[in-house]
Formats: sequence, C-alpha cells, structure tokens
Amino acid sequence: MQVSGTAARQGNLDLCLEFTDTVDWRTSDHAKDRLVTYADLVSWSQRKGVVDDKEAKRLLRLAREEDVTAGGVLEKARVLREATYRIFSAAAHGRKAGPEDVKILNDYLGRAMAQMEVQMTDEGYKLGWRTEALADRMLYPIAKSAAELLTSERLDRVSECANEEEGCGSLFIDGSKSHSRRWCSMDSCGNKVKLRTYYRRHKKTSGSG
Ligand SMILES: [Zn+2]
Repeated sequence: MQVSGTAARQGNLDLCLEFTDTVDWRTSDHAKDRLVTYADLVSWSQRKGVVDDKEAKRLLRLAREEDVTAGGVLEKARVLREATYRIFSAAAHGRKAGPEDVKILNDYLGRAMAQMEVQMTDEGYKLGWRTEALADRMLYPIAKSAAELLTSERLDRVSECANEEEGCGSLFIDGSKSHSRRWCSMDSCGNKVKLRTYYRRHKKTSGSG
C-alpha cells in the first residue's frame, strides 16, 4: 500500500536499523550517542518522517511542560534502540537474538499496536497512528519496523558494517544482487578500510624490500 508522509514510514523496514545508527562508532571504546536529549529524539523522528512538523512542535511543547515524562521516553527509546541493535546484529552474524531483547521489542510492539487505527482518506483507507501527541509516539513505528523486518525474508539481508577495527557497528539491509555489500557506506568506512589495507600492504612490501 503506497501512502504518503508519516504513514509511508510504517512500511519502512530500514527505519529500525536507522534508529540503531543514532550511536556513532557504537562498538568502539568512544561510542557517541547522538540522542542526548528528548529534543534530539524528536528532531531525528522529524527528519525521518516519523512525526510531521506539527507533531514535532507539539511533542516539544509537551516535553517542556513534562520534562520527567520526556526524560523517561528518552530512556525508553534507548532501551528499545539497544535491544534492536543486539537483535539485528545477532541476525547479521547468523545468531539468534536473546529472548530478553525480543521481549523488550514485544513490549513496545504491543504498545504500538494499541495505537494503530484505520484512517479514511479521499483515496480510501490507510493504516495510521492515533493522533494524540503521546510523548513516545515515535517509538511505535520504530517497533513496528523492527517486528516487520525480523519476520520478513529481508532479515537474511541484514548486515553489519565490516569496519570492525574502528567499531562502526552500523546495520543495513544489503540490497546488492550479489549479497556482497560490506560497508555502511563506501565514502566513510569502505574507503577508510581500503586505504588502511593498502598502506599496511605497502609498508610490509617496503619493509621487506
Ligand atoms: Zn561503517
């Protein structure tokens, strides 16, 4: 079903992986969490089309009025994110996820499902989310995306960036025909690793010669 805007992201299997990518260099000793505040979570969600501009404004206002709630949601978002990372990293390496992580995902999925509804549009019907600005509403599409990816045949295609030496830890769906994509991106990790390999080989050659 092709729908636009916020609803279109519902079918997006990548969304949950993009969410895990809000930690840079996550498997290194200098991992950097880019979700420092609730506002960071809202603006990430806005950039990804998970919430629209109006919703984002409403959520930020809500957060200002109820900062404890906002802090709690940020904490929950991180718990969901880390469980999601562990589940798909395990899948990328041909391992089963830990049942406790699947349980975390299921808790959020249950909450997400309770917020889904059929909406009537000029073109027909679509699956959407209840519109009340619940502070954790961005977590619903993320949980749904994770559940869908985990149970889809695309799960085979989930990979983790091969730049292990620097601890990239980015997850992606390998869309290449040959199942041979190794890097989160050629521009960053791919080229870096290639250069590193080249220099090492070169050093070895010049050292032995
Ligand atoms: Zn990478």
